[in-house]
Parts: sequence; structure tokens; C-alpha cells
Amino acid sequence: MKIITSIFDLNKEIKNYKNVGFVPTMGGIHDGHISLIKASQKKKNKTIVSIFVNPTQFNKAIDFRKYPRNIQKDIVCLKNLKVNYLFLPTRKDIYKFKARKFILRKKDKILCAKFRKGHFEGVLNVMNRLMSIIKSKDIFMGEKDYQQLYLIKKFLSKKFDVRINACPTIRAVDKVALSTRNKLLNKKSLKKASQIAKLLIKIKKRSKLCSSKLKIDLSNYKIEIEKKFNIKIEYLEFRDEKNLKLDNFKSKFRLFVAYNINNIRLIDNF
Ligand code: AMP
Repeated sequence: MKIITSIFDLNKEIKNYKNVGFVPTMGGIHDGHISLIKASQKKKNKTIVSIFVNPTQFNKAIDFRKYPRNIQKDIVCLKNLKVNYLFLPTRKDIYKFKARKFILRKKDKILCAKFRKGHFEGVLNVMNRLMSIIKSKDIFMGEKDYQQLYLIKKFLSKKFDVRINACPTIRAVDKVALSTRNKLLNKKSLKKASQIAKLLIKIKKRSKLCSSKLKIDLSNYKIEIEKKFNIKIEYLEFRDEKNLKLDNFKSKFRLFVAYNINNIRLIDNF
């Protein structure tokens, strides 16, 4: 595996991006990331993984500081996976050139965009930069961050003429969606997260049997779950998979949740 730390070296190294799949990450590599890497390896001749903890997408400085990082462990893991390139850019390199700024309209200020001000503007900003540096035509991203996937498809896939390959959420045996942030959870919180995930899986199953999803009173569930687990839920909503609309269940729908547990914010969808 070649480790590349500057845009200059990257351009020298990778001439033909056609056969290179791109997996952008913030590190703390886990089986969720690994599933994206394997999907890329299956489809493309070569795979480039980037690790960059992007400061502009954190709306709280403390959250950025506390974000789990373990680059040495990540390097060993990616080498074992036979990843071809690891791109480890500096903040200076990523933000040194002028690029378009993204502002979300009212209609997109839903779910996480409503609760994490500036988060997706930061995500779109960095992805716009990464995609203009790494000219891969296939990017592999997880459904775990469904709204991120949706917004990147909406704002960037046409601009760069890329295919965003959506990969399913990988869960631990206890049903908690794998996430680098889980490293911040203590045993008790992890157990609660597992019970919450199992409960939400049940609600989703039940909703599929209902003729109208709207019959399921999520506001009651929200109160119940908050009380039972002593957590604060930001949102618990069924939304259409295609357009993230609230009240259009003609096509497939998902149950979206974000909550805070011991000051750690977790998101998931089912
Ligand atoms: P992150 O390092 O958290 O920014 O995630 C990098 C990529 O991995 C994003 O496309 C995420 O959606 C994806 N990802 C994170 N967790 C999972 C998971 N449990 N299953 C599948 N993909 C994931």
C-alpha cells in the first residue's frame, strides 16, 4: 500500500483514475468501512482510501477534538486488506484552494441538517474538494449516513459525473450500527444503544405490516424510549427513501433516528 500525503504526490502517482475506486473516511477503520473497501475491490482494479477528520463538518470544537483517531492501527488494517493507496492529506492541502461553498435550502434542513447546523455544508465542502482532487468515477459510501449519501448524490454526483455506490449498514451482533464514535461509549451506553436498535428494528417491521405508516404513533414511541433509556432523541421519523419526504410513502421508506447518549450523538436508520 502506498501512503500519499500531498495532492502533488497523488497526481504524480495516480494517472488513470478510471479503474480506481474511492472510499472516503475519517478513520477509526471498522467493519463498516471494510465493507465499502471490499465493494470497491470487487468492482474496481484499484482502491484508494482517504482518512481525513474534516474540521469544517464538526459544529462543536470539542466533538472534533474528541473524535477517535488511531492512524497506526488504521494503516495496519488497510495494508492487510491490500488497499492500493491511502491518502492522508493535511488540512492545509485540502483547504488551500478556492472552491464552491454550499448552502442548504429550507427543504434540505431536515433530520441531521436541522440539528447539526453547518454539518452538511462542511461535508459537501470537503467532498467537493476531495472529488476534485481524486477523480475517481466510483465512490463507495455507507447507508449508515443516509442523509449524507442523499445530499452528496444530489449536489455532487452530476457535477463530477461519478457513481455513488451505496453500501448497506454493517451492524455488530448486538444490532448497533458500527461507527467510529462507538469507541466513545461505555458498556452501559452500548447496551442501551443495542436495546434501542433492536426496538427500532421491531417498529420498522411493524410499520411494514401497517397499511399506513402514519398509523404508527412515533411521538409516543419517542417519549417512551427517552424515558426508558434516559436519553434525548433529536428525531425519530419515517421518511421516503428517494426524496426524504415525510409524507410520501409510495416508494420505500426508512425509519431515521438521532439521539444523544451520555453526550455522544448517535445516528441510525432502519
Ligand atoms: P466515517 O469514517 O464515519 O466518515 O465513514 C466513512 C464512510 O463509511 C461513510 O460513507 C459512512 O457512511 C460509511 N460507514 C460508516 N459506518 C458504516 C457502517 N456501519 N456500515 C456501512 N458503512 C458505514
